[in-house]
Amino acid sequence: MSIEDPWRPFQEIMEAPWEWARSWKQKTGRKVIGHLLPDVPEEIIHAAGALPMAVEGAGVQIGQAQAHIPGYTCSHAMGAIEMGMTGKLDVLDGMVIPYVCDTTRNLFHIWNRCFPHMSNEFLRLPKRIDYPEARDYLCVEFTRLLSSIAEITGKKAGPDEVARSSLLYDKSRKLLRDAYRMQQERPALWTQEKVQLLFASALRAPREEHLTWMEALPWDQEEVDCQVRIPIYVKGKVWDPPGILSLFDKLGLLVVSDEIVTGFRLAAIDVGLNGNPIESLAQRYISLTPYPGYHMEPDMLIQGFLNRVVKSGAAGVVFINPKFCEAAGFEMPDFQKALGETGIPSLILETSSRSASMEQIRLRLEAFRELLSGDLP
Ligand code: SF4
Repeated sequence: MSIEDPWRPFQEIMEAPWEWARSWKQKTGRKVIGHLLPDVPEEIIHAAGALPMAVEGAGVQIGQAQAHIPGYTCSHAMGAIEMGMTGKLDVLDGMVIPYVCDTTRNLFHIWNRCFPHMSNEFLRLPKRIDYPEARDYLCVEFTRLLSSIAEITGKKAGPDEVARSSLLYDKSRKLLRDAYRMQQERPALWTQEKVQLLFASALRAPREEHLTWMEALPWDQEEVDCQVRIPIYVKGKVWDPPGILSLFDKLGLLVVSDEIVTGFRLAAIDVGLNGNPIESLAQRYISLTPYPGYHMEPDMLIQGFLNRVVKSGAAGVVFINPKFCEAAGFEMPDFQKALGETGIPSLILETSSRSASMEQIRLRLEAFRELLSGDLP
């Protein structure tokens, strides 16, 4: 791997993540466990001695999946099945699917039928994260997941291993947050596309190696940047279509904060070990920005969102909603109404690899940019 260009290791893994995992597996003789986003605790998979690999279905061109899953399924779930059917995921020894919505609940059963050779786990996340019982429930569920993964890997794993993995992941999250800050301070060098490369590869590379690559980045490099950028806030599931961040870079739209599960949300909160490591892990999960599909008191949900947007200083909000995602659709009218009453413009992009056109998205973003520029002093 080239050491001359410090960004190259991140690019290499993202150019061929499954091939990369295959050669890692051959080299180490260890297991690779896939997980569907969001909120599967990677620390648990790592503690049990396996490599956690995020499975992201958005952006995958669909050929075979529609024979196995209804056509009105979001790209994220449909793309995951497609990758499995086309052999991309053969390297996986197991797969963890979280319960975040009806789609993932049904996907788990379909997955078991399509890929019985994998050890498949359904992570039953609580729907009401604001209930005090959620934390205790999660501790039991995370402990169960740890034993299941340890059975696949054959490695004994308990609280000490979880603590060690949590420390490693916290260290990595700190550097990812630093990179996100660089994106705000030096956006010409630390472009949004490049910073997202760091986040996306963290979900695929062995975290120890990823940390070493992160430390070698040009943290001290100064930049001269004359481009005017408009601060925006983004809410959605993943950066879909892939390439949308480079579009933001080109259009001078700067994401000052986001709730994307492969974006800032990934690094926003540490485990911050405090007593029992599983309890600390559960606490981290409960403290995360709520994902669409989790249930909360509507007023609390809307006010929390509004506070985050206002605090970020964004001039506008872009919603990236996966087509057919009911969870995101349910929340939308309330969020838009609240933003409208506060005088913050917003734009909804409904994305799907089966229908999204990058050109349409570019045009809509350009128009939104013009609207926001007019609002600037
Ligand atoms: S929450 Fe939405 S995007 Fe995520 S899996 Fe469910 S339907 Fe798909």
